[in-house]
Amino acid sequence: MAAKLIHEPARAIDVIHETDVLVVGSGPGGLAAALAAARAGVEVALVERFGCFGGNITTVGVEGFAWYRHEQTIEAGGIGWEFEERARVMGAAVPESQSLSYELDSEGFKLVADRLVEEAGIRPMLHRQFVAPILDSGAVIGIITESKAGREAILAKRIVDATGDADVAHRAGAETQKTPVEEMQAASVMFHLAGVDKRAFMASVREDPQTYADWSTGEWSVETSGKEDAMFSPFLKKPFQQAIEAGVIPAHLNTISGTWGAMHDTGELTYMNLVHLAGCDGTDPNSLTRFEIEGRKQVMLAIEALRRFAPGCASARLRNFGMTIGIRDTRKIDAAYNMTEADVRHQGRFEDTIGIYPEFIDGYGVLILPTTGRYMQIPYRAMLPKSTANLLVTGRAIGGDRIAHAATRNMACCAVAGQGAGVAAALSVKTGCELDRVDMAAVQAELRRQGVRLH
Ligand SMILES: Cc1cc2nc3c(=O)[nH]c(=O)nc-3n(C[C@H](O)[C@H](O)[C@H](O)COP(=O)(O)OP(=O)(O)OC[C@H]3O[C@@H](n4cnc5c(N)ncnc54)[C@H](O)[C@@H]3O)c2cc1C
Repeated sequence: MAAKLIHEPARAIDVIHETDVLVVGSGPGGLAAALAAARAGVEVALVERFGCFGGNITTVGVEGFAWYRHEQTIEAGGIGWEFEERARVMGAAVPESQSLSYELDSEGFKLVADRLVEEAGIRPMLHRQFVAPILDSGAVIGIITESKAGREAILAKRIVDATGDADVAHRAGAETQKTPVEEMQAASVMFHLAGVDKRAFMASVREDPQTYADWSTGEWSVETSGKEDAMFSPFLKKPFQQAIEAGVIPAHLNTISGTWGAMHDTGELTYMNLVHLAGCDGTDPNSLTRFEIEGRKQVMLAIEALRRFAPGCASARLRNFGMTIGIRDTRKIDAAYNMTEADVRHQGRFEDTIGIYPEFIDGYGVLILPTTGRYMQIPYRAMLPKSTANLLVTGRAIGGDRIAHAATRNMACCAVAGQGAGVAAALSVKTGCELDRVDMAAVQAELRRQGVRLH
């Protein structure tokens, strides 16, 4: 606690809106939750602190929605599938470089999300940051937001926390766990390039193809199952090693390396996931400030290295940074069921499944690709905080251990969880039943109607 305190005076706040289901945060989890609830027939509002929907896709520039997908991969379908399909149809996706999937265009997806929200009749509420829950006898009955209009209240029958950081659950007093900062997955400042000579760049990729085994050279050590090792990965490390040898990058920045996403005909090289910032706590604004600035410095060094040492990149220039630093790992709720490493490694099966996700684990030094047709189910209870009524938490903050999160944090899995949360919240309103007593058979029937594979 700070040494000096002041008391904020109590005040009356306008209730600007009342709704059935309120979703806070609009990443793959929140956007899917809002769409699913609206399609299940209730009134929905979607609150987002930034000026666009899409979460990490649009604000950080994470474009690789399903880069793990290969011939045998089995998926839930549903709204996650629709994100890719709609983006493709609207010209906001290109074939992804290492998989049978589409890479989303982080700018174009803003329009895709707007369209989906509008078509579903969801009330869009951008530029509002959740700052406090409104509680009544341990139940969340609304939220307070802060914006250019000051503080405002929104009331709702059910609330879905899709902030990624479990902000609502945490402030409402639900148990959450935060990975110790020294063990957190690194944050990244993402960027896109313009001015790359596609022909020269792709020729160099063909001449010297990198693999997932290359992820383990040097600074990182990544455990695979072995079957991933010889597969192609759009991985860049050599230009940065050369830049260190030439004194262009300081030696301690041997963490600069990683993947590119798509090489566009227009000379844009996008989804540059090269800068990894260990020790950044995404719930601490001082830490975020420091690492935003540090990350941008490292990006400019990475670009200089690419200009000098990567074929086709001599005239490359920064097109844009992500609107915000990318955070992978903060709070997770203590849920009615916390998913385990065994669940994601050994095809977990659950009575309360709300969708499946292929055996894809990426994080905390593990990489398993779903090349075999194996998959797990996602249990509804992983989104139910133990002690706070009216609230579901979805997206990357659902309950689970570290390796479970290396699977569930992935965007397509967040969309599966989000769709399940949205449907459960909607049916809970319609039947007047508490979220922990909602009729799972009815939830599963509605999810099937919405095109989700459950088993
Ligand atoms: C650099 C990086 C690279 C990644 N690469 C991949 C990848 O290639 N493939 C993959 O599948 N996953 C990847 N991930 C992981 C993935 O992006 C996230 O785990 C996923 O987006 C989480 O989805 P979500 O809906 O839970 O949260 P988010 O996408 O984080 O969305 C949360 C939303 O809530 C809003 N919000 C937060 N707090 C508040 C508040 N208080 N009030 C109002 N709104 C709020 C945010 O602005 C945001 O829009 C990557 C992550 C990072 C950071």
